[in-house]
Amino acid sequence: MFTNFDSMLKSAYQSRSAVGSFNWYHYETLLGIIEAGRDAGCPVIASFGAKYLTNMDLDTAAALTKVLAEKTDQAVCLHLDHCSDKDEIVRAIRAGFGSVMYDGSKLPFEENLKNTREICEIAHACGVSVEAELGSLAAGAQSHEGSADDRQVYTDPAMAAQFVRESGVDALAVSIGTVHGLYKGTPNIRTDILKDINAAVGAPLVLHGGSGTPEEKLLACIDNGIAKINVNTEISEYVMAHTKALLAEESPHLSVLALKQKDWVREVVGKYIRLFQNRG
Ligand SMILES: [Zn+2]
Repeated sequence: MFTNFDSMLKSAYQSRSAVGSFNWYHYETLLGIIEAGRDAGCPVIASFGAKYLTNMDLDTAAALTKVLAEKTDQAVCLHLDHCSDKDEIVRAIRAGFGSVMYDGSKLPFEENLKNTREICEIAHACGVSVEAELGSLAAGAQSHEGSADDRQVYTDPAMAAQFVRESGVDALAVSIGTVHGLYKGTPNIRTDILKDINAAVGAPLVLHGGSGTPEEKLLACIDNGIAKINVNTEISEYVMAHTKALLAEESPHLSVLALKQKDWVREVVGKYIRLFQNRG
């Protein structure tokens, strides 16, 4: 079932669980993510980064996801990850994406707010959900998002509350110490800041940089308002490690390798879905 992320995130937020948002780069990653959601009986967000447009255009990504999503009873949302180009976002909405992330986090607060409000008006008129970001994540190792000179700027709770109230955004990505990519040192996740943000905002929050974050930290974040967790680097790392190990042993036909890669995606995504849902 192909949907936007609005009802998935609201019900996750209310039940103190989180929906996994997993980046995909080719057919096998997408199929692995959807199969993992079906295995677990959980909704999933298939997140497509604008930087992967050289792999696949927006129309193809939307058409492919719709066909695959209609083959399962589980809710599947196709999401446009980190995009600061308003025209590109409109193209994704026209292509049929279920949700979009407008990333104005590098802009001054008022400009980010104004742009996010505009995107929300367009997207909501089309039944598309919107995520925005306030604060900035640092760049870790193996990061395939943001830029290498990105620095940590924590999200301010009062500004976050004003931003959500005045923009009409459905979910807000916050900066509390996770990084894009893998951690270079010990993660310092500020759940104290997250608690304050959640108390002030009272709407679904999003955690970027799920890869490599200790499980107990992720669960503490879910307890404090995080309803969507993004995982990107670890999918690539997991599949590439298995691919390298296989190729060191044998030289399979590409069709065999493709199927194996789909199954490795399914494994690593399944692990995260169970973690995000299993509230003990
Ligand atoms: Zn991100």
